[in-house]
Amino acid sequence: MNKHSTDPETVNLAGYEFYSRSMDKLMEDHILPKIKARAKNFIVTANPEIVMYANKHDDFRSIITRADFIVPDGIGIVLASKWLNKPVTERIAGYDLFIRLLQEANTYKKKVYFLGAEEKNVRKVVSKVNNEYENIIITGFKSGYDLPTDAHMVKEINALKPDIVFVALGYPLQEKWIDRNLNEFQQGLFVGLGGSFDVYSGNLKRAPKIFQKLYLEWLFRLVQEPSRWKRMISIPQFMAMIISKKSKRVT
Ligand code: UDP
Repeated sequence: MNKHSTDPETVNLAGYEFYSRSMDKLMEDHILPKIKARAKNFIVTANPEIVMYANKHDDFRSIITRADFIVPDGIGIVLASKWLNKPVTERIAGYDLFIRLLQEANTYKKKVYFLGAEEKNVRKVVSKVNNEYENIIITGFKSGYDLPTDAHMVKEINALKPDIVFVALGYPLQEKWIDRNLNEFQQGLFVGLGGSFDVYSGNLKRAPKIFQKLYLEWLFRLVQEPSRWKRMISIPQFMAMIISKKSKRVT
């Protein structure tokens, strides 16, 4: 990628190379060709919480920087990119990426695998995908609790040969799981999706569009899951960090 062109593919925000173009471009230029070529691919959907966590944990930071793509999940990242005069084209939320990948998998009759969430929720995901996308081939699924060993999972996934493996274990677990096993996999797009299975299965509600437009998705989430407040402190911390970088003109 040429980081100095006038239309860069990535922008450096707080030390991380974020994909800066649209979801459409990501699909057309990278994801679909890679799936077609059976190339391995690792996508991190990063919001301010993930960035702040990575800043505090070097091992996690290395994992994130090894990924093929870091996409700007979270409006905080989009705002930061504007304040730093390196705007990303749009937010690419994990949930939207999940739905888009399901649509592409349906169009191109691709094989998928679901890993993560509670047993009842991942089962709901599988049956809903089965009903909504007639061409998708569901090769398998596993709940994210009492996970089998890595060796077992690698053997199973390599035997099933999915084109896309949706990994919804929450951060940092999902990125760590992908990163430490990626070498062993023969093919596939691996993407960390946080709570997307819970939303798709109907266990959790996604914020209505109006909340998203007003940048208040975090508030909607906090009301649904009050126990998240501690983790959410990292959002204002991220904003403060960006503002201080802007005032020092260092990124
Ligand atoms: N989860 C899981 N295994 C675990 C811990 C969590 O499968 O050991 C699932 C959990 O059920 C939920 C998702 O991972 O579906 C985490 O969602 P969250 O919205 O907290 O994602 P984050 O914001 O942490 O990435």
